[in-house]
Amino acid sequence: MSESALKRTLLLISLLFVNFLAPAQNAAAPADTHPEWSRPYQPFQIAGNLYYVGTYDLACYLIVTPKGNMLINTGLAASFSMIKANIEALGFKFADIKILLTTQAHYDHMGAMAAVKKLTGAKMMVDEGDAEVVADGGRSDYALGGNTSTYAPVKADRLLHNGDTIKLGGMQLVMLHHPGHTKGSCSFLFDVKDKKRTYRVLIANMPTIVTDKSFSDIPAYPGIERDYAYTLDAMKKLSFDIWLASHSSQFELHRKHNPGDGYNPDAFIDRKGYDAELNDLQDQFFKKVKGK
Ligand SMILES: [Zn+2]
Repeated sequence: MSESALKRTLLLISLLFVNFLAPAQNAAAPADTHPEWSRPYQPFQIAGNLYYVGTYDLACYLIVTPKGNMLINTGLAASFSMIKANIEALGFKFADIKILLTTQAHYDHMGAMAAVKKLTGAKMMVDEGDAEVVADGGRSDYALGGNTSTYAPVKADRLLHNGDTIKLGGMQLVMLHHPGHTKGSCSFLFDVKDKKRTYRVLIANMPTIVTDKSFSDIPAYPGIERDYAYTLDAMKKLSFDIWLASHSSQFELHRKHNPGDGYNPDAFIDRKGYDAELNDLQDQFFKKVKGK
């Protein structure tokens, strides 16, 4: 067999194998997900070209640009049609999504990612620390992993590192590596404008602790304690106007906004709330390290 014929045969075999294994169809989100999390929620304009398109608690953000849109997080696999309907209800085309991002590779933010990618052809970009777990649908996750994927695997088109920028249609997002919750949890920092002013927006992955185990008892993530300490410290030093997060409960969306409220970016200016939440998480981290 010639070299090119051999390559073609190997490619064919690998393609057959991929189809045969069909890992996406075996993904199953944990059954104990709080039903409130994935309830439908009315989408709205947060500030400038930034929109909330998530479910009641699983925050998903759409950033609209003249060159196409970016979607950050997708909720559960079952949230797919809700997110799509939310984007369309705001008057945007689902097919205009060009870039997909996630704040952390857990099933409640990655659930519909493979389906969105398939339908839109958008490029998925992920923090390098989460690339492996995204590619196996959560199986290799140190806390929620196991034999079955908790979401359909996605192959990232670009790996991101701390401080990398993601550019589209005049927008520029800086990715901040905030590991601990997952190995590649991250936040996004960027400016949005409206007629009145520019807002610096932080979409933060708050470093909540997932595992019940002691940090020294997690061979799959030897650097976990150091990573949480780094993230807590790095997050305290950030400057921004608007604070958002992976879960709407974390930044108290439902206290700050009611469905049908008019445009009010100032409702999300809340440095105090952010600092209080971080202090809480810092306490939980110290307790964990002390073994309490
Ligand atoms: Zn999570």
